[in-house]
Amino acid sequence: MTKHIGIFGGTFNPVHNGHIASARFVQQHCALDEVRLMPCQLPPHRATPGVSGEQRAAMVQLAIAAYPQLKLERLELDKTGPSYTVDSLRLLREREPHSRLYFIIGMDSLCYFCSWKDWQSILQYAHLLVCQRPGYSAEQGDAPALLQHYGAANLAALQQVNCGRILLLNNPVINLSASGIRQQLQQGLACSDTLDPAVLNYIQSQQLYQA
Ligand code: ATP
Repeated sequence: MTKHIGIFGGTFNPVHNGHIASARFVQQHCALDEVRLMPCQLPPHRATPGVSGEQRAAMVQLAIAAYPQLKLERLELDKTGPSYTVDSLRLLREREPHSRLYFIIGMDSLCYFCSWKDWQSILQYAHLLVCQRPGYSAEQGDAPALLQHYGAANLAALQQVNCGRILLLNNPVINLSASGIRQQLQQGLACSDTLDPAVLNYIQSQQLYQA
């Protein structure tokens, strides 16, 4: 039987409640067998000093522990050097030829999707599922043209084909960003309502994101 797999790429620096709520919403709403959070490698100049890929992955593990349908996808961390989404999806397709892939992004990412390496090929490997995010709309950037060409009216229409369609989701909007949370942590603010308690505990014990 075909497995339906959501892939949610990101820096997860750190993973926050907006990521987890979005991943859970997409998994349930689109009836996916699983959603994998896939932390990317960061080149040294983009990495937060003192926070490794392994630590970002450890935080993802802690945040998903209560949700069996959410998984960690280590593919990009296990390769050397930063990887492009298109290459990761190609590899996943090769590894799991009988699965259907759904790449999950926030609206912010859809607005500049055409600047991603070989974005047309991304659509040959996967569908795109787009979560609403405060501050970004489907009227901005690359979104209108992409939706005109590839937009699916609903989930049933998207599922008629293997890949290449874009679906906008009506997820509850959560006004959180990892950069905002890093700033709050640096200022010594609690962040107990924006981070999973186990993630917060890990951040404190490893002394991450300190000023
Ligand atoms: P930063 O503030 O550092 O840019 P971020 O919060 O956007 O970080 P990322 O790890 O870069 O987190 O995001 C991974 C993916 O999650 C992206 O596709 C992004 O659009 C999406 N995303 C992040 N936060 C939210 C949110 N609150 N609601 C919906 N999608 C989100």
